Amino acid sequence: MDFELDRDLLDVQERARELASAVAPIAAEVDSRSQLDGRIRDQLAESQLARLTVPAEFGGATAQVDPLAICIVREQLAGECNQLDALFALQGIGSYSITLAGSSEQRETWLPRVASLDAIAALAITEPHAGSDVRSMTSTAHTDVDEWTIQGDKAFISNVGVADFYATLVRERDHLSLFLVAADAPRLSFTASPELIAPHVLGDLTLAGVPITAANRIGEAGRGLEYVGATLSVFRASVGAAAVGVAQRALDIAVAHVRTRRQFGKPLAEQPAVGALLADSWAEIEMARLLVYQAAWLARGDPIGALARTSMAKFAATEIAGRVVDRCVQVMGRFGLIRNSPIERLYRQARPMRIYEGATEVLRGVVARALIKEAGLGL
Ligand SMILES: Cc1cc2nc3c(=O)[nH]c(=O)nc-3n(C[C@H](O)[C@H](O)[C@H](O)COP(=O)(O)OP(=O)(O)OC[C@H]3O[C@@H](n4cnc5c(N)ncnc54)[C@H](O)[C@@H]3O)c2cc1C
Repeated sequence: MDFELDRDLLDVQERARELASAVAPIAAEVDSRSQLDGRIRDQLAESQLARLTVPAEFGGATAQVDPLAICIVREQLAGECNQLDALFALQGIGSYSITLAGSSEQRETWLPRVASLDAIAALAITEPHAGSDVRSMTSTAHTDVDEWTIQGDKAFISNVGVADFYATLVRERDHLSLFLVAADAPRLSFTASPELIAPHVLGDLTLAGVPITAANRIGEAGRGLEYVGATLSVFRASVGAAAVGVAQRALDIAVAHVRTRRQFGKPLAEQPAVGALLADSWAEIEMARLLVYQAAWLARGDPIGALARTSMAKFAATEIAGRVVDRCVQVMGRFGLIRNSPIERLYRQARPMRIYEGATEVLRGVVARALIKEAGLGL
């Protein structure tokens, strides 16, 4: 067993750290708005880290998208700038179905542009009435008529308004299929989603009879949910990695504060109760990091087979991040509550992570089912 990252991954980590430091001076300003900041896009493009989100054959950095490399980058970026982390991750999340099942034309047209950030990707699943229960979606591709169209509404979709294409999951007869909808498609319109506690580039899509052809379909008819599942199996652990980055940054800030802040004649750090909160946080961060790295490593070889592990890593790490930032705010007292201070931003940033890409309770169900199935098979 080797707990060291190899040279290539250490190099990726260092480049991600440098990128995070480069955006640090503008991070608070960027994360106070839900519009994409051009400087973030430019810095990410310049770093070439988005090349990790597509395979080498189409301008990517590694032969196949490497879940562990994605985790290592997100851990560094998320602790500094929410928008930077999201932009990086969504290049992969929005394009992976094309990597996996797209036609040669789709791959050649879009993947090199995703890698270089000339094009921004998005994945549109959620609808006003269909969140965790994806199968209840009502957006429909009408492909049994002469002119094919998509009709429906998508809500809370990352990168709406700035994306160049949307991998869009819709009902097609009795199954769900994925279609590639270009941002300039006729009868496709955008509205902003409500502003979140941690602003995010987010919006709603209205597909009012958007014209499509067979060339828009990603992979085979009726296999859309499978492609989305494959996407999540590669990227789910990386939400856990982003959560580790957020928690680590919060702990670093809290430690710096309690070492210098004096009450009752000594630094807060010397109050045993404060030390206990910090020790619990450190231990939980280390647990989360190991779990995330292990899950991502397993997903490298067999993403679908590792789904229980990546789901576990996602919910455990995001729940830990929630607890850690809360403790960090607590030990900083009133200074932890100042709006737009680094610690307050992390406190808000940690919260949505427990909901998107599989809410904790939904993922616990995935893990419990895998546990019971494994036990049953062992009998
Ligand atoms: C910042 C952000 C970015 C997003 N980006 C995208 C995007 O790019 N593309 C996209 O398609 N969607 C996106 N979403 C939507 C996201 O995927 C949904 O919020 C998520 O799927 C949960 O759905 P919901 O919010 O409708 O919650 P609901 O499905 O209404 O669930 C609410 C709560 O009920 C509980 N619950 C639900 N189902 C179960 C169950 N089976 N068992 C136990 N408990 C359950 C959980 O506690 C859950 O948190 C984004 C959301 C956010 C906040």
